[in-house]
Amino acid sequence: MTVPSTELTPANIVDFIGDIFSRRGAESYLGEQVTMSQHMLQGAFRAEESGAKDELVAAALLHDIGHYTSEFPEDALEKGVNNYHDTAGAAVLAPFFPKVVVDCVRHHVAAKRYLCATDPGYFDRLSEASVHSLRLQGGPMSESEVNAFRNNPNLEDILQVRFWDEDGKDPDLETPPFEHYAPILQRVVERFTVAQSQLG
Ligand code: FE
Repeated sequence: MTVPSTELTPANIVDFIGDIFSRRGAESYLGEQVTMSQHMLQGAFRAEESGAKDELVAAALLHDIGHYTSEFPEDALEKGVNNYHDTAGAAVLAPFFPKVVVDCVRHHVAAKRYLCATDPGYFDRLSEASVHSLRLQGGPMSESEVNAFRNNPNLEDILQVRFWDEDGKDPDLETPPFEHYAPILQRVVERFTVAQSQLG
């Protein structure tokens, strides 16, 4: 089912995302050994396996959704252009998902730069493609960038989602399909929608 993006609502956003997974999930993931959908499903699988709350399973599943909102071709990053998929992804999710999910998506590239600057063992966990993109993304954070980044109240969750991102590049790892995660996404969207309406 294809849902026009102008009509996105809390009732159809999960189907809309599922449609993206089914139509475009087989695309390659920037030089990795897994497809885009395998990568995102593996992140969600790792999150769920470790008993993470729904919001973080959703964040791990959706962290790279911004690759689909960009006007750049899918291999743009490989050609040396930063397509800002992190901010694009956060923007499309923000109307439907709580701030912790949006923050984890918005900052997942920054989290890599942060961890490279602060965690001596982290760089070794990066794949070859991720080391390449690190250079395009600005390299490890400076001290002042690190200090500013630490102020995010969702820092711990942002870093955790980044670790699942790294773990989601295994060509041999089988995961449940998107449909397994759809009810989790729907719960997160519904809780957010209710909270918003109580605010309003
Ligand atoms: Fe990723």
